[in-house]
Amino acid sequence: MDVVISGASVAGPVTAYWLRRAGHAVTVVERSPQLRRAGGHAVDLFTPAMGVIERMGLRDAVRDRATGTERMIVRREGSSREVTIDLTRLMGALSDRHVEIMRDDLGEILHDATRHDVEYVFDDRITAIADDGVVTFARSPARRFDAVIGADGLHSGVRRLVFGPEDGYSRWLGGYIAVATIPVGRREPGVMTTVLGADRMVGVYGARHTTDARAFFLFRPPAELAVDHHDVERQKQLLREAFGDLADPVPGLLDEVDRSPAFYFDAITQLVLDTWSRGRVALVGDAGYCPGPAVGGSTSLAVVGAHTLAGELAEADGDTAVAYPAYEAAMADYVHQSRAFATTMARRLVPGSRVGVWALTTGTALVARLPRAVGRRLVALGGDLGLHESVEVRRYPALGDR
Ligand SMILES: Cc1cc2nc3c(=O)[nH]c(=O)nc-3n(C[C@H](O)[C@H](O)[C@H](O)COP(=O)(O)OP(=O)(O)OC[C@H]3O[C@@H](n4cnc5c(N)ncnc54)[C@H](O)[C@@H]3O)c2cc1C
Repeated sequence: MDVVISGASVAGPVTAYWLRRAGHAVTVVERSPQLRRAGGHAVDLFTPAMGVIERMGLRDAVRDRATGTERMIVRREGSSREVTIDLTRLMGALSDRHVEIMRDDLGEILHDATRHDVEYVFDDRITAIADDGVVTFARSPARRFDAVIGADGLHSGVRRLVFGPEDGYSRWLGGYIAVATIPVGRREPGVMTTVLGADRMVGVYGARHTTDARAFFLFRPPAELAVDHHDVERQKQLLREAFGDLADPVPGLLDEVDRSPAFYFDAITQLVLDTWSRGRVALVGDAGYCPGPAVGGSTSLAVVGAHTLAGELAEADGDTAVAYPAYEAAMADYVHQSRAFATTMARRLVPGSRVGVWALTTGTALVARLPRAVGRRLVALGGDLGLHESVEVRRYPALGDR
């Protein structure tokens, strides 16, 4: 089978890896001129996703590039008192195998693992998909493929071609997120510092091995903002409006954001499509079921989804009419629970009141101080937090995946 995948970040290369392992010919087309390295943010690989990564033989490569963030220092807005949260203990209360890694580091590892037997085409994108499988590209000549996979993220081009404009199936979760790459300066490695207030949070973190850091901003305005996706100046102005009144170090951070070579701003939106395939086209990762960036464990969902899609295609011997419904059925619960989890997290992460801010910092610090077994029990009582740990990843014999 000849397969084309749009998107070379996480879901694309993982799908490509497993499809190659099942003997299929794979082309990955990526809009960026080269592998993205400058931007990106920290993402989470929970136990089920790490299980897939381990079966790809990439456990050590991924662990070696973990961010190494060990402590989070939280200052509540208007207070000079700092609360230090031991993130190693906090994550230990949730998971044995969780790894936090910069998305672009993960992308590079996955590209390295696939580039020898997958055809990568950068600086190109799919512009049309005909019913007979002929795919038209912006730059490369048209070609026929048996399957077309959209792994091109929250604002997927493949999805737009097949399912129509995004507003028909996306839901704003009430917040906005911005991330900027800034110089690491004299910031301590392994420490994330944050200022948390009602309806807003700002912070800085880095990764052990990188020479730059990330400034991040989360805020919840009373109503959805009118902001164009490409209007970076307006986005930076909105950040100043939302955070400009905060004391040191926030004004300095906002100045660094103005000088940043890599700036990302987006609404925290959730996709609510109830199907992720049509004809010979299937969507995977954020393109199909992003529960909300930064709030829903979406990287793990993307890795597990990619493995499941490739597994079902391999088991059905490339018959998309059999494989795609099986893929959707296999992922349905995980996707729906991730949506519910993300909706709750979007509210919890940036509480709407000062009491909520106090409860979040105190509660999180408490779980981080408790012995691991007790912390685990508390986390379990919180209900939904264990979701990303408890998902079962099926093994597909047709992938040689025992
Ligand atoms: C600010 C921010 C913070 C986040 N924090 C976390 C976190 O803490 N934990 C977590 O687990 N997840 C987090 N995420 C989510 C995480 O980044 C995604 O879930 C994950 O990267 C999904 O991978 P993906 O491969 O599906 O999509 P993406 O990583 O979005 O990759 C899509 C790829 O497709 C390419 N592309 C886009 N359009 C086209 C096109 N038309 N043609 C060809 N190529 C195209 C893009 O250049 C990109 O390479 C965060 C996301 C954001 C934006």
